[in-house]
Amino acid sequence: MEETRHFQAEVSRLLDIVVHSIYSDKRVFLRELVSNASDACDRRRYAALTEAGLGAANGEYRVILIPDSEAKTLTIEDNGIGMTHDELIENLGTIAKSGTAAFLGSLGKDAKRDVTMIGQFGVGFYSSFMVSSQVEVTSRKAGATEAFKWVSDGQGSFTIASAARDEVGTTIVLHLREGEEDYLSGTRLRHVIKTYADHITLPVVLRQEGKDEALNSASALWTRPKSEITGEQYKAFYHSVSHNFDEPWLTLHWKAEGTIEYTGLIFVPTSKPFDLFDPARKHNVKLYVRRVFVTDDCQELVPSYLRFLKGIVDSEDLPLNLSRETLQANPMLAKIRQGLVKRVLTDLAKKATDAPADYTVFWETFGAVLKEGLYEDFEQREALLNLARFRSTTEEGLTSLEAYVGRMRPNQKHIYTITGDTFEAASRSPQLEGFRAKGVEVLLLTDPVDEFWTSMVNKFKEIEFKSVTRSGADLEAIESATGDDKKDAEPPANTSNLIALLKLTLGDAVKDVRSSVRLTDSAVCLVADEGDIDIHLQRMLRQHNRGDETTKRILEINPGHPLIRSLNDRVGHDGGTEALEDAAWLLLDQARIIEGESPADPVAFASRLAKSLQRGLGA
Ligand code: ADP
Repeated sequence: MEETRHFQAEVSRLLDIVVHSIYSDKRVFLRELVSNASDACDRRRYAALTEAGLGAANGEYRVILIPDSEAKTLTIEDNGIGMTHDELIENLGTIAKSGTAAFLGSLGKDAKRDVTMIGQFGVGFYSSFMVSSQVEVTSRKAGATEAFKWVSDGQGSFTIASAARDEVGTTIVLHLREGEEDYLSGTRLRHVIKTYADHITLPVVLRQEGKDEALNSASALWTRPKSEITGEQYKAFYHSVSHNFDEPWLTLHWKAEGTIEYTGLIFVPTSKPFDLFDPARKHNVKLYVRRVFVTDDCQELVPSYLRFLKGIVDSEDLPLNLSRETLQANPMLAKIRQGLVKRVLTDLAKKATDAPADYTVFWETFGAVLKEGLYEDFEQREALLNLARFRSTTEEGLTSLEAYVGRMRPNQKHIYTITGDTFEAASRSPQLEGFRAKGVEVLLLTDPVDEFWTSMVNKFKEIEFKSVTRSGADLEAIESATGDDKKDAEPPANTSNLIALLKLTLGDAVKDVRSSVRLTDSAVCLVADEGDIDIHLQRMLRQHNRGDETTKRILEINPGHPLIRSLNDRVGHDGGTEALEDAAWLLLDQARIIEGESPADPVAFASRLAKSLQRGLGA
């Protein structure tokens, strides 16, 4: 019986774009289909380790390409794990995968849409419609006796029906569109496979006129000596494991020998993958054991703060027939992870020293992820602090902590930081005024992760980090870069009268009111008390509906500011109490607004502001 199903709406849109993607390099379809077939074989080989009956006869796996000039079809056949009826439906059409929307989003509205990076989004199968007017997928799952056939012309729906297939595996028949007959030519297929799939570890065979011809070398690239591998081959391998099309930013290929033996072939991409900040934080390194693919889902292998890495690890020691669960707990795996982390961080450090400009590009792309390691991996904290780069109030570009420390002012005891949503917001904060006036450098932290590591990592080489929103008292001790500490024309006013009035009027709305040493231009600002939660962090938590109680803040007033001086002079004189009280609340609201908060009571704020303006105008 044949059923007709509709593609999930986003899949339909995606297919529509793929079909009309005249600006794309269509060869990618072959790469995607051969890579799916090879993955399916890897999975079957692995499944057979625990249940021998599931494996292929003789344990031989291969992908066969069969061009048929008469029928104008290209068939891609594998003896991999296969798909059940439900898997065909789920994988090829009705379940919305996160990648579908992300892929559509990445294409934007540009008419010249290039869909070549489709594979990165986990929807590579659909690229077959770039060259086909109809696609038929016949599949029989390992362990099952029945087979099913999925057929679609990519126009909104597909059919699924029972079918016959002698062996386990998947056959994909592409009915080539007019003008795509080139993919029936042996020369063309040979060339595309050589370019895109040479490193596939199982044979990719061209079957023509009854003859079979292997198109690739089918040896695991990473087992060859480095000296025999060209840059192009590394790149092709990277493209295949990552489904990316960019250049690898860094390629690491090493063999660990000694108590634990394994080979790593790991890449740092140049561009950011779409799911870098996916909550699952899954890494992308495949685990092989003695050339046999085991899993791409062993989360113990790579810490999540290195989830941007792509590549493989091939172990000589791990037992092959372990279930995934026992594998996760294997102590050898922990050793491999340790070695891998060390290797990657050491090479990043080398890049940071040898090619700083290049390293900056890396840091801008992946720094926010790497910083998660500062609180997740205690052992590597020092190494990660050395790798970290920051924007600051005094430097162009990025600075390391080492360089910051080298620029610290005499008597400066802390590494000062400020957090904010953007560099602009952070660097405009009035809390920086006093630091700026003294030429004291402050690091501008704008990644959400900065809030977390700064609350857990106290020091860099014995020097404490300190948020400027929490410090200030110690600013007085620091020598000014300009040396004009003392020549301030007017000594700051004694503002004790105004402070008393503010405390009385604002009552519970603030934790305290103080005269400020950090303000030079602004009249007021809010700061967090020592030990209280940072203002920006609290706002972030509130945005994520976590921790809704609001910690009271300290209102600092600038004794050198003309407004503060004249308000102070008015306190204690007869009359004008209401005006002073209005001013008190307006000062607090003003401080809140600068902080990115809204006035506690917007209506009261507006009416006080109107009244004050009226008074000012004498109206
Ligand atoms: P991806 O391979 O990145 O997951 P695709 O759109 O290419 O995305 O394929 C979707 C899914 O369909 C695969 O994850 C796999 O489960 C299944 N699949 C595709 N081709 C095959 C095949 N030849 N054999 C078995 N399963 C396949």
